[in-house]
Amino acid sequence: MSLEQLETMDTETRQSELVRRDFIKLGSATTLGVLTGGLSETLADEVTNPKPAKRTYDCIVLGLGAMGSACTYQLAKRGANVLGIEQFDIAHVLGSSGGISRQTKVAPYLGSAYGPLVQRANENWRALEKDSGQQVFHQCGWLNLHAGNQLSPAQANSKGVKIELLDAAAVENRFPQFQNRSKDASAMLDHQGGVLRSELAIATHCHMALQHGAHIRAQEPVTDWSTDGNGVTVTTTRGKYRAKHLVIAAGAWNSKLVPQLHGKLVVSRLALGWFAPRDSAAFAVTRFPTWIDGAYYGFPMLSGFPGCKVAMHWGGTPADPDKVNRTPTAADEKPLRNYLRSKLPAVNGSVLAMKICMYTFAGPWLDFLPGEKRVTFIAACNGGGFKFSSAYGEALADLATEGKTKLPVEVMRFT
Ligand SMILES: Cc1cc2nc3c(=O)[nH]c(=O)nc-3n(C[C@H](O)[C@H](O)[C@H](O)COP(=O)(O)OP(=O)(O)OC[C@H]3O[C@@H](n4cnc5c(N)ncnc54)[C@H](O)[C@@H]3O)c2cc1C
Repeated sequence: MSLEQLETMDTETRQSELVRRDFIKLGSATTLGVLTGGLSETLADEVTNPKPAKRTYDCIVLGLGAMGSACTYQLAKRGANVLGIEQFDIAHVLGSSGGISRQTKVAPYLGSAYGPLVQRANENWRALEKDSGQQVFHQCGWLNLHAGNQLSPAQANSKGVKIELLDAAAVENRFPQFQNRSKDASAMLDHQGGVLRSELAIATHCHMALQHGAHIRAQEPVTDWSTDGNGVTVTTTRGKYRAKHLVIAAGAWNSKLVPQLHGKLVVSRLALGWFAPRDSAAFAVTRFPTWIDGAYYGFPMLSGFPGCKVAMHWGGTPADPDKVNRTPTAADEKPLRNYLRSKLPAVNGSVLAMKICMYTFAGPWLDFLPGEKRVTFIAACNGGGFKFSSAYGEALADLATEGKTKLPVEVMRFT
């Protein structure tokens, strides 16, 4: 928007535009700078100095979190004329993808439709890294400390996945950081597992989508959408856009935008904590895996961020995404602290950060909206959706451009 355009606005609109610009310059650029290590300038430039307003697209993607950013990238890469719209900043901590990192694993999905999907996702993460030069996936392994013996190394091997079964003595020997383990617990190390840098992955998908010609509008909530015989109209706080197809990927906000989802999604509040380890080297991503121990899970240390992240994998507390209490409390820290004191004392140092995030329970669903051949959606990705997002983005892009996909997402049909 030019200064001339600003001058022709009424006072209230001009004021809100100026505030928006300041917020983006001061807020997004610095936040993104920290989170993404250098992608901020391109992204901040795009939102502060958008290209001449285009209003008609092949496809609009509503919501640029894990799923929407991957879809926007996939669409732009195949030459579609795409607009991605996000209500907050690119790579923010107010939805379901914040908190720097997510776990990925392959072995638990072998034998289900999600097996090929997670393998495809890993190929797509590697392709994104090649395209962008950014490392988003650290294949440091995923250690399940209560695996039982459901899968043998030979079974996993036959599907090209390397796993190791570890008895209590082997865990003690290889990972002495864990203490007070039951003598009969058997663990599994999945060598294809590891850590995805979630916010960096979203920023990278958006950054590369821009490089491939996408348009992105951040800080612009969508307030309404509708379809007609010729396409889709999307209304935001700043204008109206038209497209042939709409992809809705609004995460915890999906049921506010999709009438068919009203009453079907349960959103819940969860806390994540970062704690100072006694010996950082013992938890470096190059030698310590990502892990789960019953209801608790955690991460190695990633370069650029102090501390090890630890959290609880449970239902959380029901919440409304617009009203959720984002201030961490002592009650959020207490169970994490209790676990660390007893099982992982080498990480029981000072708390360095706490953040609040949201699970959305139900599906997961990836499908056309019933009765709407011009609208596809992804919803209810629960507590494990991030690892698949690079593949889900591809499937959504396939449905939007070709009406079908070869990826095995039938299991995610809504109806
Ligand atoms: C604490 C926690 C831990 C997790 N751990 C793991 C893990 O280890 N491994 C794993 O694979 N998965 C994990 N998950 C799950 C995974 O992170 C989520 O499934 C995934 O991030 C969901 O992505 P999404 O795109 O659906 O939502 P989001 O990333 O939240 O994206 C939705 C986007 O839509 C935007 N939006 C909403 N409404 C509007 C509107 N009206 N206008 C414009 N934009 C809008 C939002 O601002 C947001 O950016 C975890 C989730 C949480 C909360």
